[in-house]
Parts: sequence; C-alpha cells; structure tokens
Amino acid sequence: MKSLLIANRGEIACRVIKSARARGIRTVAVYSDADKRALHVQLADEAVFIGESAATQSYLSVERIVNAAQASGADAIHPGYGFLSENPALVEACESAGIVFVGPSAQAMRAMGLKDAAKRLMEQAGVPVVPGYHGESQEPSELQAHAARMGYPVLIKARAGGGGKGMRKVDSAADFQTALQSAQREAKASFGDACVLIEKYILQPRHIEVQIFGDKQGNVVHLFERDCSLQRRHQKVIEEAPAPGMSVAVRQAMTHAAVAAAKAINYHGAGTVEFIVDGSQALRADGFWFMEMNTRLQVEHPVTEAITGVDLVDWQLQIAAGFALPLTQDQLHIKGHAVEARLYAENPQAGFLPATGKLERLAFSSAGRVDTGVVQGDEVLSFYDPLLAKLIAHADTRTCAFSQLSSQLADSVVMGTQTNREFLWQLVSHPGVLACEFDTNFIDVHLDELTNNAHVPMLVAMACAELAAPGFFATDTDSSGGFMHHVQTRCIAQALGAWQLWGPVSRKLRLQIEEDYLTFTLQQESAADGAKGWRVRSTDMPEFPVKGVLITGRASLSGNAQVLVDDQRVHVQHGPFAITVNKPAIGQGEAIASAVDSVSSPMPGRVVAIHCAIGDSVKAGQPVISVEAMKMEQELCSSRDGVIELVAVQVGEQVSSGGELVRLKAMSAPDAT
Ligand code: ADP
Ligand code: ADP
Ligand code: MG
Repeated sequence: MKSLLIANRGEIACRVIKSARARGIRTVAVYSDADKRALHVQLADEAVFIGESAATQSYLSVERIVNAAQASGADAIHPGYGFLSENPALVEACESAGIVFVGPSAQAMRAMGLKDAAKRLMEQAGVPVVPGYHGESQEPSELQAHAARMGYPVLIKARAGGGGKGMRKVDSAADFQTALQSAQREAKASFGDACVLIEKYILQPRHIEVQIFGDKQGNVVHLFERDCSLQRRHQKVIEEAPAPGMSVAVRQAMTHAAVAAAKAINYHGAGTVEFIVDGSQALRADGFWFMEMNTRLQVEHPVTEAITGVDLVDWQLQIAAGFALPLTQDQLHIKGHAVEARLYAENPQAGFLPATGKLERLAFSSAGRVDTGVVQGDEVLSFYDPLLAKLIAHADTRTCAFSQLSSQLADSVVMGTQTNREFLWQLVSHPGVLACEFDTNFIDVHLDELTNNAHVPMLVAMACAELAAPGFFATDTDSSGGFMHHVQTRCIAQALGAWQLWGPVSRKLRLQIEEDYLTFTLQQESAADGAKGWRVRSTDMPEFPVKGVLITGRASLSGNAQVLVDDQRVHVQHGPFAITVNKPAIGQGEAIASAVDSVSSPMPGRVVAIHCAIGDSVKAGQPVISVEAMKMEQELCSSRDGVIELVAVQVGEQVSSGGELVRLKAMSAPDAT
C-alpha cells in the first residue's frame, strides 16, 4: 500500500491521515464544495474534488469516490465511519477496480448490514441475541401481535438502521401502530428501507460493546470492551473503557461471544459487536444480548487505543495490506481508564438540535487527546454531522480520567456556535455518572439538571461589562495557536486601560437575549481587593440574580472569561459555561452607546477646570471637566449628546473615585423595537 484515499471528511479523515502518514503512505483526501478549505484537505498530501456539498453528490457516491481513487493513483481506500463505510457496493467497486478496501469483505458487511438477518445469524452461532421478532413478515397486525407476545415496552427498530434512526420505544399496545408508521417513515427516508424488527425493550439497559479485529489469515482477537451507555436520542455522547463494574467472568463471556460473532462471518479488519446489557443489577454472564455489529472503525475507538496502546487505524492498514494481526490475545492488556466526549455543534436545550455557525474562536485544552477536523474560522454547515471534536482523557483510574475530561471540557474554548460543551461538562461531573449509577436513560432522566441555565445572568452581566468597556476581559492565545489562556497581568492592564478612558461610571445597555430586549444598568465599582468592576442590574428583570456580584476584569467566578464581540452578537464563555447574546438588530449604535447620565471621576483627583454650565447642550465626546490625578491632567468627556443638568463640583475640589462630577438630563428610554 503506497497511496491511500480517505473517503470521508472531518475528524475521522484527519485521524486516518495521521496513521497512514506515520506508515509512509501517501494520503489523498476527497472534498465537496463546502469542504474546499477543510482541515482534512489541508492535511492530506493531495486532494480530489468530488462534487457538490450534499453528501449524496459527493461523499456518498461510490462512483465519484472510486473515480477519485483512480484519478489520483491511490491503491487503497479507507472509508472512515458513516457515509459509505458499511456499504458493500463500495467494497465491490474497489474489487472491480483493483483497489484495496480497508475494511471487511462485502459478504461480511452484508451479513451484518441488516439487523434482522444479523440476529438470525448470531442465533445460529450461539451468540445471545435480544429477544424479539426478526422475521421476514412486515404485516402491521402481525408485528403488533409479536409485540404483545413479548410484552411492552418494546423497541421498533429499522433493520437497516444506524445512528439511532428509525427507532421507536412503544410503551403500550395503543401506541404501537402510530410508532410503527413513524419508524417506517424515518427508516424509508434515511435508509431507503422501511423494514423493521421488534425487540423486547430492556429496562435499565447499558450499552457495552466489544472491539474485535480479524486478519485475512483467520485470526480474531478482541481489544476489550467500551461502555457507551450515556446517550442522547440513542446516540452515544460519552464513551469509556473498560466498562465500569465489569468482572473477569462477564468480560470473558462477552468477548468470547464477540469473537464468535466475528468468526461466524470470517471477519477481517476492525469491527465492533454491540451488546445491550441488563444494568438493573451487577453485570451477569447471562445478562447481555447481541444488538448489532458495526463493520467499521467506531467513532469511539480512541478510548480503546488509550487503554491498549494500539493504533487501531494502523492495524486496519496492516490487515488490509494482508499482514497478520500484530499482537495475539495474550499480548493485549488493559492499562488504566479512558473516557471520550463527543463535542457537537448542537443545542442541548432544544432537544440537541444541530447548530450551525462560524467557529470564531476555537482552542482545545492540551491536557488530553483531541481528535478534530475543524480549525478556528471554519463554518459549521448543515450538510454534515455536526461533530466538532472528540476529547479523550486517559488516566490510571476512572475518577482521574473523568476529572481530567471535565477540565479538558472547561478549558477548551469554542465560540461562535452553540455546542454541547457545557452539557458534557455537567454530565461528566454528575455524581450519578461518577458513581457509575447510570443506564442509557440517564440523560433523558436528568435532562433538566444537565441543561440548567442558572449561570446565564452571570454571563449576560459579563457581556454587558465587555460592551461597556471593550477589552475589559482580555484574553490571549499562545503563539502555537493551541490552548487559549487568560493572561492575568494583561487582563488587569486592559481593564485599567478601559478605566483610563475616564469613561462614565454608569451605563445603560439594551441587549437582545433570545426573543427579549432587556435593559441593563451598569455601575462602576471597586472590589475589596481593588479590582475595578461593573455591578449589573436589570430594570426589566428585577430578579436578575447577579445583583450581589461585581463583574471584574478577572471575572467573577474562579476561572477565566472569554468574551468575543462581533457585529451582531456577544459571545461569552466562562469555564464550562457559554452564552451568545444578540445585540439589538436596529439602532445598534444608539442601543449600545450607553445612555450615560453622568460623568464621574475614574480615580481620586482634583478638579482643575470646568468646561460647561447648567443648561448647556453638549455633544458626545465633548470635554466637560478636567481632573488632575497622578500628576496628569485628564479631560473627561460626555459620552452622549445631552443637556447639563448639574455640575456637582467646583474647581480645586478633591474628588473621590466614582464620584459624580457632572450630570446630564435623563434621556427617554430607547424604544424596545
Ligand atoms: P457509532 O456507534 O460509531 O456512534 P453510529 O451508527 O451512531 O455509530 O454512526 C457513526 C457515525 O457515523 C455517526 O456519529 C455519524 O457521525 C456518522 N454518520 C452516521 N450516518 C451518517 C450519514 N448518513 N452521513 C454522514 N455521517 C453519518
Ligand atoms: P444503531 O444502529 O442506531 O446504533 P442499535 O441497535 O445499536 O442501533 O441501538 C442503539 C441504541 O438504542 C443502543 O445503544 C441502546 O441505547 C438502545 N437500544 C437498542 N436496543 C435496545 C433494546 N432492545 N432495549 C433497550 N434499549 C435498546
Ligand atoms: Mg449501534
């Protein structure tokens, strides 16, 4: 194998390029219109354009992929996961074109491709399968009769399913037909195949899967298990290895069943045998059942790599090239504990709806492994899966691994699009997760807790402070473009810098937060330690619960604040928490230019000149008073147009920090529209 085409995009394309390059293999990326400047295109030695942005016109076209391989002289194709990775038509097209397919045979893929046929096959091989109906007939009344026989709740599954699509849990007979129709519609739309199977719904289930590997010589090994029970919409978000509570006896039974499954279909390459496990009590050797086999590399393969020290992509390449498995079963061991979080552009508050947007700032914590396919400045588009990155932690113990992952999540910066970062952080910090008290329903059951927004007012207050004094929260990026961290000294200098504008001590802002326009009043104050800050109140929201907190340039909670202001929005990230606030769409200038009612002294000093009198009309930026402080004379300006209502001091007077010097007549409140 000299040259490898990667028939995929995003993080997995980048991941494959890495291992291929380490073997000295030339890498060829493919890309659609939307991906012209994508990271995988830049990383590869060569890149071939394959079509329009819609996946059906590019990454899902067998013909275009094979043509690209031929045009670029690639002698092998790695399919990644998703897209064509489990499509036997690609394997056959490769065979006809004399290209090596990095993956199993078309036959093995077909055997496992449909969940119903796979279950029949596994039954024959003596592998325990989930009780249910996986026969040919699709007669609705017959399906319902099977459901009644096994007893509710049941799970209707698309036989061609994947990614949790075409799956419906049914709790009672009354709901069966509606759920069936909806599952069939989704299955037809997603996979072009409406056929379903019915399974007994396992209560308190855990998802535990076994990584297996086979070579073309007929050897099969397993690389232990992964627990992927933390799921939303039947899709994994946190995966770990080994599985919590796994005993030697259960592991032996489960891995034995997985190896038997692989041997039953003469499997070669990387594969995963997924089991649904009774999690209502301690794991039992008779308490797990085959669900399906994924005949490809799995999204969550890095946790297995972490605990075994094996580069799974490298093994895939070796096996595809005809070599035997590099290690025997006896040579494989578990070292420590690993956990992965899938960072998605999505909105957990809105049912995990995928989100789009530009990644205005992106910097990952360097504390653990990061597999990503995006860089700062990239646009998250709606054409593809919104997976941004996988953060992987590996440590001696489960507790340490979770704690490391929690820091990785909190310390990574993603601004410009909504993500599930905060949700993941809540999840990996949750006492139930830390105590291993979870099943696949955990996220649904704890959704409110995991998506609570108690800290939102604090973040809004930070947004206000930044708008009142640009540069108030200062951040810095290290030159390697890596982890962005907060430089304390610079931050303080900048905050003071904002002060030295001799700006007003009180400001009013109107911001759009989701659908509402809210008015905030900001008052400059000093904290006990001398740090300057803004106290933020909301007139529209009297209960705005940050009254007691002074937002300072050093932020107000422990940790660092990142604030980014663009044309339309203010993004705030503070540790694991983030918010995006829209500035008002119209009259942005006026709305943000504060309705400042007074001019005050930013620090103790002496009034040396007064340039206005009561009743004078003044313009924004017009000097109204001069104060001498620290041996320097400073002109203090009105920050808006207005009429002088009061001059509170006389020349020669000593003034304190924040003391009101000149007041303007109050302005009528800006129109909420
Ligand atoms: P896994 O068990 O590895 O999560 P899934 O069945 O959830 O397996 O799918 C694997 C990944 O493949 C998904 O996370 C998703 O990113 C990707 N994927 C699935 N279906 C598609 C598709 N139709 N187009 C693009 N990517 C897909
Ligand atoms: P997909 O191909 O979409 O990955 P799977 O059959 O692997 O479909 O199931 C996906 C998830 O749905 C599982 O990880 C599990 O959380 C849940 N699930 C599947 N089958 C059952 C079942 N019989 N009982 C309870 N939960 C199930
Ligand atoms: Mg699955």
